[in-house]
Amino acid sequence: MQSRNYKKSEKYFDISKEYIPGGVNSPVRAARAVHRDPVFIKSGLGSKIFDVDGNEYIDYVCSWGPAILGHAHPYVLEKVKKALKKGLSFGAPTKKEYILAEMINEAMPVMEQVRLVNSGTEATMSAIRLARGYTNKDLILKFTGCYHGHSDGLLVKAGSGVLTEAISSSGGVPNDYAKNTVVADFNDRESVKALFDKYNDKIAAVIVEPVAANMGVIPPKDGFLEFLREITKKNNALLIFDEVITGFRLAKGGACEYFGIKPDLITVGKIVGGGMPLAAYGGKKEIMAKISPLGDVYQAGTLSGNPIATTAGIATLEVLFQNPEIYAHIDENARLLADGIEKIMNEGEKKVHINRVGSLVSIFFTSKNVECYEDVLSCDLDKYASYYSFLRENGIYVAPSQFEALFISNAHRMNDIISTLDVIAEFGGKE
Ligand SMILES: *Cc1c(COP(=O)(O)O)cnc(C)c1O
Repeated sequence: MQSRNYKKSEKYFDISKEYIPGGVNSPVRAARAVHRDPVFIKSGLGSKIFDVDGNEYIDYVCSWGPAILGHAHPYVLEKVKKALKKGLSFGAPTKKEYILAEMINEAMPVMEQVRLVNSGTEATMSAIRLARGYTNKDLILKFTGCYHGHSDGLLVKAGSGVLTEAISSSGGVPNDYAKNTVVADFNDRESVKALFDKYNDKIAAVIVEPVAANMGVIPPKDGFLEFLREITKKNNALLIFDEVITGFRLAKGGACEYFGIKPDLITVGKIVGGGMPLAAYGGKKEIMAKISPLGDVYQAGTLSGNPIATTAGIATLEVLFQNPEIYAHIDENARLLADGIEKIMNEGEKKVHINRVGSLVSIFFTSKNVECYEDVLSCDLDKYASYYSFLRENGIYVAPSQFEALFISNAHRMNDIISTLDVIAEFGGKE
């Protein structure tokens, strides 16, 4: 159904494949799951991105979350331009590091102290090392379908049944290593209880995406996060909220504020760097004091707290903090989009299931309710692939995978939503 011209993208992809594995620097960009080749992006502005062949798209990937203000936000760009003139990196402290840490603390008071790192992967990996060092225990409990970056111990999903030993889901990760990760089912309290019963005093921490957003968007069931808070406290384990997606998106204070829960450690990324490589982890001073140079848990980074990245992060948070109405705006546009899709696609019979939390939306090609990873597996992936292609040919850029969220930015306008719904209505009519 290809109607657009992708000549340059095709050429660039051929060259990239020669020098970069799969032609991409992060696997999902390759668009293999939807049987397409990627488009190469030339620029972005507001809610739009433009590829190298001159095709225009309304962007619902938003760099996988960071672009909450839309692309090339003038205030953020102006601040970055100013910072560029002063040099790129020093490997010594700069004032901007504490300014950003203070802002993170203001939004998320649980993070009394903050360490800046360069990616969400680093943030979760370091938070887990810290949790192990602080509790003197080895096991980490994670949930099937939750993604916490690509560090060894976190690339693990359950074998059959939650009580079987965890098996690594990536080559190059020794199963011996994966044994320190135990896996429960998201939204399933019994599976968590069973693991605490089995390993009682060996679990250092539970790490969770408070809203699962890496198997498509799945909200926590009522009471699930409260339950995690309780059971970790009872068992002297730390609760880690991985807010790399939800932080500064669901609310100024992220999922903690949205659901009113206080975890022990939080990781943030994506939005906090405003489009630059920056992430952070933090918690109570008493716990953070375990990190070197104060404590014996080692963690470091040549480019951590980089002046350009912190500048982009500070500027982005400034815009969010000074314009709190942004959250109502992105939530409302997400609601209009979700309700519109529901109406178009499910007229007569239920063809899709839509989950939405704030400005995070997923459209699942299944008639079932989607509350856990198993439900996600019931989706019709061929349907998603043709939906992706139809949208792309009509100027709507969504994730090239069923298992991803759709992100709304503050730059999306009502007419973007209406144009998108028009295209989806045309797609629905073809089915
Ligand atoms: C994206 C993501 C990560 C990893 O962040 P990177 O910057 O890609 O390393 C970790 N946790 C969650 C919840 C994420 O969505």
